[in-house]
Amino acid sequence: MTVLEADLTVLPDPGLLIGDGRVSESSGGEFTHVYAATGKPTRGVSMAGAGEIDAAVRAARDALPGWRATPLDRRRDLLAEAARLIRREAETIAQLTTIDNGTPYAIAASTPLLAADLFTYNAGWADKIGGEVVGTWPVPALDYTLDEPYGVVGVIVPWNGPVVSVGQIVAPALAAGNCVVLKPSELAPWGCLRIGELLLEAGFPPGVINVVPGGPAGGEALVSHPDVDKIHFTGGGQTAKRILASALETLKPVGLELGGKSANLVFEDADLVAAAQQAMTGAILLSGQGCILGTRILVQRSIHDAFLGTLSTILGQIPVGDPSLATSVMGPVVSEGAADRILGMVATAQKQGNRLVTGGERLGGDLSDGWFIGPTVLADVAPTDFIAQNEVFGPVLAVTPFDTEAEAVTIANSTRYGLAAYVQTDDLRRAHRVCAALEAGNIWVNGFLGIPPGAPFGGVKQSGQGRLGGIHAIREFTRPKNVWMAL
Ligand code: NAD
Repeated sequence: MTVLEADLTVLPDPGLLIGDGRVSESSGGEFTHVYAATGKPTRGVSMAGAGEIDAAVRAARDALPGWRATPLDRRRDLLAEAARLIRREAETIAQLTTIDNGTPYAIAASTPLLAADLFTYNAGWADKIGGEVVGTWPVPALDYTLDEPYGVVGVIVPWNGPVVSVGQIVAPALAAGNCVVLKPSELAPWGCLRIGELLLEAGFPPGVINVVPGGPAGGEALVSHPDVDKIHFTGGGQTAKRILASALETLKPVGLELGGKSANLVFEDADLVAAAQQAMTGAILLSGQGCILGTRILVQRSIHDAFLGTLSTILGQIPVGDPSLATSVMGPVVSEGAADRILGMVATAQKQGNRLVTGGERLGGDLSDGWFIGPTVLADVAPTDFIAQNEVFGPVLAVTPFDTEAEAVTIANSTRYGLAAYVQTDDLRRAHRVCAALEAGNIWVNGFLGIPPGAPFGGVKQSGQGRLGGIHAIREFTRPKNVWMAL
């Protein structure tokens, strides 16, 4: 069946969202956004250049005194109202997510609900941010802290999950009293722009949230802008290095949520089918384009062959296809460039001796106009191999055997990344031992059902610094001021 055209009637108004107005004539030029499932253009994206970034930062700066003075209960109610509107528009935002980056609607449907939950959750913090009283010595005094917002925060998000990123990052930044300039990727601007519109509808004062899609030039203008007080960046490690270099001039603090090559440790005592189903998600969720996905599968040698067989069978049954259909579990990758890069990495792995078990090619027939790649498994992967050490960001699993628990942990920790890890075992003591030994910010044992809004989220090593989620996200966007008063 031919892949359906994208329904462009749901796209938000054109232009950048600065203050309460739209700017269509932008110095960053226009990017032709393409629907990944058909390879056809959707609409031009106005890209923020330095001038528009400056206008957005000025709008945020002008709004800051009023936003900081807004009573906390009002701030709380605005976040709660935003959550209500995002839920009201969930179907449209899900459609926009599918158009943004090809996420299958079956998966995209949950993303606005997750974002809304994060707004509701952070609404709960908005009226509880204050400070603490600090004990003093040797002289009696009153010492207390005031948890204050940074001011204007620049938020740079990638294309793979922008709507959830808004909930994870923008909601706590606003709850903490910051004004935000949000820069989505030009590859996936639509969902973020719609949520920006909804925040204005909810009653956020103009300038408190600005949405300025763009590419590297817009991003650099935001990072180097002297009136931006903090940057929060989600994306790849190479971009993070450029961002840190740009932030150097103004000594700006930068929060980093970066990539991963997360290990999934499958022990011989695990439920084999459940473990294979868990491993499957590393390839098929967002077509493998998720930072936390378990893409290195470490399997105890005694069950290695049986596991590989079960995994291949399960992956062979995955409905890959038109992302707008409810029956599709896996859709395309984001762009032609991404498809070429992913297949190039698979070819390199094969040249280095890794065995292609399944997948490894573009899908043809009705899917040939889009950028569909079948779920791919590479076996006989040594821990130091190229494919074990580098993030593919595509539907590719690398399978490595191990003999002992200690060896599994050593292999799991042997990359420069440390975002997530997964453990499949029926042995409770082992689960606790292994979780304590793994170098990762987030670990899932025997399953994966998302990240609770209250849980800390972030990476160690080159997967990032700082934490989102729970009180940690509020701390990410506030800093304590200490006051000492003689008594
Ligand atoms: P990317 O680093 O290419 O781009 C991310 C964002 O940075 C985009 O908005 C882009 O326009 C902007 N950008 C690019 N160059 C810039 C520059 N010089 N200055 C400022 N901004 C710039 O990443 P991507 O391809 O969009 O996303 C994939 C990467 O993101 C993967 O590595 C993935 O693991 C990571 N990621 C991490 C998380 C997390 O929470 N840890 C979540 C999603 C994605």
